[in-house]
Amino acid sequence: MKLDFEKGNGLVPAIIQDSCTQQVLMLGYMNEEALELTKSEGRVHFFSRTKNRIWLKGETSENYLFVENIAEDCDSDALLIQVKPAGNVCHTGSFSCFGEKNSKGFLYELEEKISGRIDQKSENSYTYDLFQRGINKVAQKVGEEAVELVIEAKDDNAELFKNEAADLMYHFLILLKAKSFSLSDIEEVLLARDKK
Ligand code: AMP
Ligand code: ZN
Ligand code: ZN
Ligand code: ZN
Repeated sequence: MKLDFEKGNGLVPAIIQDSCTQQVLMLGYMNEEALELTKSEGRVHFFSRTKNRIWLKGETSENYLFVENIAEDCDSDALLIQVKPAGNVCHTGSFSCFGEKNSKGFLYELEEKISGRIDQKSENSYTYDLFQRGINKVAQKVGEEAVELVIEAKDDNAELFKNEAADLMYHFLILLKAKSFSLSDIEEVLLARDKK
């Protein structure tokens, strides 16, 4: 469907979402030109209703929004734009215009970080070091962390339990990477089960 700029007197609202964590970062308005510039340049441009001109988000702060995906809503009068933000999005200095960063979705950021360490063969990286030692070693480490978690489960030290759970998740992500799978592959399996 053709995007409906008429309804909003030439402007369409664009929800800006972090492509990795899915957190909502800000809301802005786009005219046709801003959308074209956003598509051709790969950085989000708005039409600023305050400045009454095209506004490249980050033009002074350099906190650009790098486009990963653009989607229209059901009746083509709103946009959902997934981005990788170069820095804090809000001009007040906070992570998002709707508040500070929260831990939901952080596993995906961690997954990207782990992937990066491995792909870049990072020196002085525990992650790359372990990865390099092979799948069996990584799998063994997952087993060890699982056992540590089981041991902590018998106790009632909440901090130790949470830390072992975190160790397990971190090593689990390395194992997925070593097997060339991603967290979403596993989520798809769980989702399919849920649909049954
Ligand atoms: P920037 O585009 O980040 O270089 O910021 C330039 C100016 O745009 C700032 O001084 C603010 O006036 C405004 N601005 C930046 N980010 C936001 C935002 N997330 N929401 C509303 N206004 C913003
Ligand atoms: Zn709509
Ligand atoms: Zn803001
Ligand atoms: Zn541990």
